[in-house]
Amino acid sequence: MRFAEADRIKNLPPYLFARIEQVIAQKKEAGVDIISLGIGDPDIPTPDHIIKEAQKQVAVPANHQYPSSVGMLSYRQAVADFYARRFNVQLDPKTEVVALIGSKEGIAHISWCYLNPGDTVLVPDPGYPVYSGGAILAGAEPYYMPLTAERGFLPDLAAIPEEVAKKAKMMFLNYPNNPTGAVADEAFYKEVIEFAKKYEILVCHDNAYSEVAFDGYKPLSFMQIPGAKEVGIEFSSVSKSYNMTGWRIGWAVGNPHVVEALGRFKTNIDSGQFQAVQYAAMAGLTGPQDAVAANNDIYRERRDIVVDGLNAMGWNLEKPKATFYIWAPVPKGFTSASFAEYVIEKAGVVITPGNGYGEQGEGYFRISITIPKERIIEALERMKKNIGKVEF
Ligand SMILES: *Cc1c(COP(=O)(O)O)cnc(C)c1O
Repeated sequence: MRFAEADRIKNLPPYLFARIEQVIAQKKEAGVDIISLGIGDPDIPTPDHIIKEAQKQVAVPANHQYPSSVGMLSYRQAVADFYARRFNVQLDPKTEVVALIGSKEGIAHISWCYLNPGDTVLVPDPGYPVYSGGAILAGAEPYYMPLTAERGFLPDLAAIPEEVAKKAKMMFLNYPNNPTGAVADEAFYKEVIEFAKKYEILVCHDNAYSEVAFDGYKPLSFMQIPGAKEVGIEFSSVSKSYNMTGWRIGWAVGNPHVVEALGRFKTNIDSGQFQAVQYAAMAGLTGPQDAVAANNDIYRERRDIVVDGLNAMGWNLEKPKATFYIWAPVPKGFTSASFAEYVIEKAGVVITPGNGYGEQGEGYFRISITIPKERIIEALERMKKNIGKVEF
């Protein structure tokens, strides 16, 4: 029997990587050694002191029972301490911090807290697919804000039509940005806060990459900007900072009404994250930070190999200041999908077609540098040898 799916599932955008996955499968069957630069997931293990803390906490019987769905107060305090130390932002752990089962969970669920069916939400394009996915599941309608190279991949708020701005209930932003690697400065965030106040829009900033940065650059928190707490919240997690994507623990911080609403929503659908995992995240946030610097040294070296390699083939890319992504235009005569397919065919290298992140991503591809340096070197050598010089 095949049951009729609910409209909200049917309305989700189509899965764009099916064709690429087919080509990968064919190549693998033919015995080709595929190198994937497609997935953004740290390959470096979680730091040892975090694992040790988790191992210890797993054995504690008190941790075997249901946790609080909003997180232990000590966990929320650790998040607040991290914000104080890293961003000089003061947060009340009782009212301005909520634990999440990874930030993705909160990003998907915030739409359910603030959007009614038919409501408008401002979503960056290209962008992390969960912003529109969560909103569509809640019955809302995304209005896509184009992120273009000319504007440093920051949305042009002045270009949003007045009637859209008036209707919009919420806006998603994400800097340092996936997939473009772009970063935002204080002036941009100030503009966002002004816009949000004028049109009464809840700003949801995703800061997943705040600790993945290079060349002395320190990403800001949206919460550092005066007025941010009045209009918004910030999502983040230990996933990218401490190589903990599999552990599933994150947070939302900021506006106490919004934090409370998200927590209230969650009490109805989940029972929080395993306390041993919360303790592990606390060890990451409050423990030694040298692993973060060591990670960034590794990513910086890999980034340089990719950018220098592509530039030697004819690209003209700048080195991103943050994230583990390189966002690049496809050569003349290609679409995102046809170039991705071409690179697998010619070089056995997987890149992500940019249109998977939205219409504005068409004409681009994303490379993720979360595999060992030797494999990245090999990937670039194969591309140089089998694709050669490109034109735009
Ligand atoms: C990886 C990533 C996240 C983090 O997700 P978690 O659920 O915290 O692991 C959030 N936003 C973006 C844009 C990401 O790339």
